[in-house]
Amino acid sequence: MNVVLLGPPGAGKGTHAFDLSRGFRVPHISTGDIFREEMRAQTELGKLAQSYIDDGHLVPDDVVVRIAARRLKRPDARRGFILDGFPRTIPQAEKLDEILREMGKKLDTVVYLETPPEASVQRLSGRRVCRKCGANYHLLNIPPRQAGICDRCGGELYQREDDRPEAIRERFKEYQAKTEGLINYYRDRDLLTTVDAGVPRAQTLAELEALFRRLG
Ligand code: AMP
Repeated sequence: MNVVLLGPPGAGKGTHAFDLSRGFRVPHISTGDIFREEMRAQTELGKLAQSYIDDGHLVPDDVVVRIAARRLKRPDARRGFILDGFPRTIPQAEKLDEILREMGKKLDTVVYLETPPEASVQRLSGRRVCRKCGANYHLLNIPPRQAGICDRCGGELYQREDDRPEAIRERFKEYQAKTEGLINYYRDRDLLTTVDAGVPRAQTLAELEALFRRLG
């Protein structure tokens, strides 16, 4: 299945994509995770992306499209993919259509994780991420077994620079200005499935799993 997860910062895209990817055996492709890995390794791409990301701005379209295209062409994405955080602008969505067309593929659906702003802010401010494997936690909603330590790999948990209040505000502005228009873009193409992501995580996940089973 070829699926995009769309939604505001803090909708739970990464968390749900991680669970769905394991359950349905398709790769979870997060452009944000790719950037964070590059930033950790201090590559040219990582250094370029960092200034945008830390301030809560979007990375320029041409840069993001290049890394997304490269990732989608890897063999493990042949059976399908869950895109998390890409596309985030209309030009990116148009490029994605083009890339998939060239590969003889198309999207099955775009899931819009509809989330009230209060839930988004609560999730972002309590989020902690593993430095080593990138796993996501939340101080209240998804606490690690041992404070500050990743359950999966024992790595150190940290707060993302862009989960600070000023950066969160910028990310919402960027979302409203550039990403929200994708809801209508995909609705007009009959590709949009709206899922309530303002309810407890398990409830949203159950709905997503049912949808994925229908997609086969
Ligand atoms: P995420 O982990 O999806 O929240 O992404 C973290 C940050 O990476 C975003 O706030 C952007 O700065 C950057 N980023 C990730 N994906 C994209 C994208 N598709 N377009 C532009 N910037 C992106």
